[in-house]
Amino acid sequence: MRSHYCGGINESHIDQEVTLCGWVHRRRDHGGVIFLDLRDRDGISQVVVDPDTAESFALAEKVRSEYVVKIKGLVRRRPAGTENSTMATGQVELLGKEVTILNAAATPPFPLDEHVDVGEDVRLRYRFIDLRRPEMLNRLRFRSRVTSYIRNYLDSNGFMDVETPILTRATPEGARDYLVPSRTHEGAFFALPQSPQLFKQMLMVSGVDRYYQIAKCFRDEDLRADRQPEFTQVDIEASFINEEDLMSLNEDMIRNLFKDVMDVKLPAFPRMSHAEAMDRFGSDKPDLRIPLELQDVGDLVAGVDFKVFAGPAKNPKGRVAALRVPKGGVLSRKQIDEYTKFVGIYGAKGLAYIKVNDLAKGVEGLQSPIVKFLGDEVAMAVIERTGAEDGDIVFFGADKTSVVNEALGALRIRVGHDLKMLTCDWAPLWVVDFPMFEELPDGSLTAIHHPFTAPSCSPEELAANPATALSRAYDMVLNGTELGGGSIRIHSDKMQQEVFRILGIGEEESRAKFGFLLDALKYGCPPHGGLAFGLDRLIMLMTGSSSIRDVIAFPKTQSATCLMTQAPGEVDEKQLRELHIRLRKPVKAVEGNTSETGEE
Ligand code: ASP
Repeated sequence: MRSHYCGGINESHIDQEVTLCGWVHRRRDHGGVIFLDLRDRDGISQVVVDPDTAESFALAEKVRSEYVVKIKGLVRRRPAGTENSTMATGQVELLGKEVTILNAAATPPFPLDEHVDVGEDVRLRYRFIDLRRPEMLNRLRFRSRVTSYIRNYLDSNGFMDVETPILTRATPEGARDYLVPSRTHEGAFFALPQSPQLFKQMLMVSGVDRYYQIAKCFRDEDLRADRQPEFTQVDIEASFINEEDLMSLNEDMIRNLFKDVMDVKLPAFPRMSHAEAMDRFGSDKPDLRIPLELQDVGDLVAGVDFKVFAGPAKNPKGRVAALRVPKGGVLSRKQIDEYTKFVGIYGAKGLAYIKVNDLAKGVEGLQSPIVKFLGDEVAMAVIERTGAEDGDIVFFGADKTSVVNEALGALRIRVGHDLKMLTCDWAPLWVVDFPMFEELPDGSLTAIHHPFTAPSCSPEELAANPATALSRAYDMVLNGTELGGGSIRIHSDKMQQEVFRILGIGEEESRAKFGFLLDALKYGCPPHGGLAFGLDRLIMLMTGSSSIRDVIAFPKTQSATCLMTQAPGEVDEKQLRELHIRLRKPVKAVEGNTSETGEE
């Protein structure tokens, strides 16, 4: 139908006849001449239709925004003074000779102008129009380049692309499952995979040796801004490999990817233990662009009368930490109040601080509501520990360790951005030596990664000290975002059973849920390991998008619905009966859904 894309014509086509197809971006009537901006995925071309071609002129008069047209014409240089250097096609225009209207279009619900602020609900409802916008199409194109690069990289490193089932059993990654009722087995349900974890391990037992898949994963989680109920992972697994090999291969892939598609040279990825990351940054995915660190001061304040500090300092599960912000003395009372509210989100009950005005004056040079509670000596010792200088502010967190880490960890990022302290554009790292388990409020243990991750010790040592055991897991972190994570897996059934036992999964339950895994581990399972990257988040970071929804063609809302198709939707009584399901309550209208009746 077409000879060129709209965005593809330039001075080299002058005097050539071309045929363009696309959408009418804008139509302007100018003193008897009609200008059409014709748009397709590659860009916009200006078309001029004059009354000499009467039939085409009549058609051009009829077209409206978003009409789909085909135009044959002659490329010519734009008259001097009318060039547009901001457009790739800005030196030329098409003298339209033959206009064909391929399809009319109703007035779009929003103009496709980049500068128009349209509510996200409307954009998602009419996603097919929203995606026509160049910035959206460009993100999809970028995403496609990234997946194509990754496939090529993995293919050329001997990885095999293998698909794994979507209808399966629960695959524990710590979230709720999406369930699918079975029609043929009354009362039984499939679960959609939270990840292909167990299947990729089975492929290693089968001798596939190197596997990858760009895989959809499903997790019914409480949605946060950067989560989607279905998302995409670049899922990787390999046999006869250790963590060194896996980390260097994946680091190489990501560095080459950045070089190839963005011309960004990432530095070599430093390694940091989980314990160090928590101590220094309060987070297992530290943003190393921000040069602020937490420092323990618990030992200095354990003896003071001030219970707010002394309590957590004396509690083995508590922490008192300081966060020195160089030149943070400029922060106003109002800003500090805002930060106090901000840390409240993470459970902190307040935000103590000391402003260092003039160190030469000793404690007199400190400005703070807490110095009087700490006493002069302790206050000075704390300031000395942080290395604070005149003009700095030091914030404090004193609470349960997890609260202090989360609150000060988030505060360092917020303040770092507010005070424009970022030291570089890209700061990657590997976080290693994760603990195997974490303790839940009820005292039971849960796997930090997943129950198939190998510990760095023997089954006997693990049984003796599960709470302090470390795992062979690793996370790749970039700018404070976890890009991917994985581990060396358990490949002996004895070790796997020990981990299940520690997690409170008895023999009967482990047989019922993971019998196939335990069997596979007995039939010649090679040592293996792997990892998975969150593709959506990777693309979001690379494109600098503010929402994960902007890098997914058809995302769900934060309440896990699709506004375009209005999924999830109701089903009729017959379908329910076939699935052996009776609803307990009438269906409540789904957000954005127009029909409101439900099955009784
Ligand atoms: N299955 C893991 C996850 O989804 C990744 C891995 O261990 O390879 O996080």
